[in-house]
Amino acid sequence: SDLYRIDAWGGPYFTVNSSGNVAVRPHGRATLPHQEIDLLKIVKKVSDPKPDCGLGLQLPLIVRLPDVLKNRLESLQGAFDLAIRSHDYGSHYQGVYPVKCNQDRFVVEDIVKFGSPFRFGLEAGSKPELLLAMSCLCKGNPDALLICNGFKDLEYISLALFARKLALNTVIVLEQEEELDLVVDLSQKLGVRPVVGVRAKLKTKHSGHFGSTSGEKGKFGLTTTQILRVVKKLDKLGMLDCFQLLHFHIGSQIPSTDLLADGVSEAAQIYCELVRLGAHMKVLDIGGGLGIDYDGSKSSNSDISVSYSLEEYASAVVQAVRNVCERRSVKHPVICSESGRALVSHHSVLIFEAVSSSACDDAPPMSAYELQYFIEGLTEEAREYEACLTYADVLKQRCVEQFKEGSVGIEQLATVDGLCDMVSKAIGAFDPVRTYHVNLSVFTSIPDFWGIGQMFPIVPIHRLDQRPAMRGVLSDLTCDSDGKIDKFIGGESSLPLHELEGNGGNNGGGQKYYLGMFLGGAYQEALGGVHNLFGGPSIVRVSQSDGPHSFAVTRAVPGPSCGDVLRVMQHEPELMFETLKHRAEECGQGDDGGMASAAVATTSPASSCSMSAMNNHGFYYCSED
Ligand code: PLP
Repeated sequence: SDLYRIDAWGGPYFTVNSSGNVAVRPHGRATLPHQEIDLLKIVKKVSDPKPDCGLGLQLPLIVRLPDVLKNRLESLQGAFDLAIRSHDYGSHYQGVYPVKCNQDRFVVEDIVKFGSPFRFGLEAGSKPELLLAMSCLCKGNPDALLICNGFKDLEYISLALFARKLALNTVIVLEQEEELDLVVDLSQKLGVRPVVGVRAKLKTKHSGHFGSTSGEKGKFGLTTTQILRVVKKLDKLGMLDCFQLLHFHIGSQIPSTDLLADGVSEAAQIYCELVRLGAHMKVLDIGGGLGIDYDGSKSSNSDISVSYSLEEYASAVVQAVRNVCERRSVKHPVICSESGRALVSHHSVLIFEAVSSSACDDAPPMSAYELQYFIEGLTEEAREYEACLTYADVLKQRCVEQFKEGSVGIEQLATVDGLCDMVSKAIGAFDPVRTYHVNLSVFTSIPDFWGIGQMFPIVPIHRLDQRPAMRGVLSDLTCDSDGKIDKFIGGESSLPLHELEGNGGNNGGGQKYYLGMFLGGAYQEALGGVHNLFGGPSIVRVSQSDGPHSFAVTRAVPGPSCGDVLRVMQHEPELMFETLKHRAEECGQGDDGGMASAAVATTSPASSCSMSAMNNHGFYYCSED
């Protein structure tokens, strides 16, 4: 298990148990051994097709862990509470969750529920997000903030003002100066006193990949000149009391607390200036950016790591705000953060299966005698490492050329290919990297790997008590050459993996081989599309329970069917089926089983490569182990 450094990136939630399987500690460090949840047991339970044993769900599978979500939320709040006490800060922390990170209904509802004791709120960046945030917050703490970010049109602003009428603690954060006129007009028409904030374009720039929109030339927010114009306009209208919040966001994955403190101090200065100019400032909203250490290296020089803990982050923020406000004799603001990645990354695990592996060391189609002859035929000199490889290479090139000319057949070419592999192996230079075919779509389930090259920890979820004998790259089941994973945490170009038993899970009848992708709870689900019409994973919600298996599946949703993904692209599966049926009748194939398989295909899981019977369940609710 050390091989995958699970403790470094996975602590305190993921560990390896005595069976050699990855186990979840849903309550972090406070989890008792009998409360640990074995991921393999979840997979077996939910994928078992026998109705009295399991749910027959297809992989890939997202296992959602609400207990982990609760722990993340409480840890974030706890870190700020501690910093506020330690620095004798004069106000409180009140966070919001940016729903863009994962808009799943149950994730948002859980955050509102778990965050209710400490007034945790939501951030929306579009009209649909605002709608879902409004309805979820109706069941939350009435003081929880509803932050309205993003570009706003008339309807967005009307909706946000309506939210205030519903007694939701709504703040319209201006991202463009023009939005102010709309807010003023509509609030007068609707008879609502708005609460307004501005997003400031800070000079502080975060240099990593995720900071590309920060700094003076950043895409979002108002410049100091524009902020001053907003103040003047509101003052003229007698609405300066409506200006209550200052927001900034310098990018995701802020690498160090030095940079963070820099940005927060700059924003705190603007905040104090706004107080001086007469705005009724209450909240400093420091945006997102609280990072995740995906590779466990605690490094500030990498986009996938950060060099601080939750506690260090909170302490840096509180200290920076306090210092500026003390110097300016300004009342300490409520500190709000919009941490998304840090809140939801750990709460879900994507589990998929290696269905086959193709070895690079295919045995050459030649007899043992031929092989012996070839190896003995190598001169002593050629047996030397470099020379031997060069010799094999020259032989291969010559053969390829002859093949292209038509003077060598495919059998001979295959013999030489295999021979070269054997030579490499014999002299220890054999590249043992295999391609493991995994039943997922990189585009749907790990879009940030494809889009921005972001790496996530990927680990077998079992057999971790056995040393992996192979190394592998992962190739997905989409027909797209970009659908592969060949870069891994630690800068590796392959992953240590075990041999598949019985030549692979699905076909060979051996034990299946499951892998997990961890820390992908933020952004991946929201970004994933239906490239190749592959469909998405099944999803189960698993809570810790005190029953014999230590977990309960409280909700299960199969991945979309072929019909579902076809509908996304405006196809009409029912019409398609009718067309095929008509054609079958014309061809005299009306009663053929082929039509049955077409019917089955429209309802079977789009992402499945398995030939097992389709399952067409709706939702499952089961509360027992
Ligand atoms: N707030 C705003 C305005 C954002 O644009 C983002 C993400 O880009 C976030 C919050 C969430 O950031 P993070 O996931 O880094 O916490």
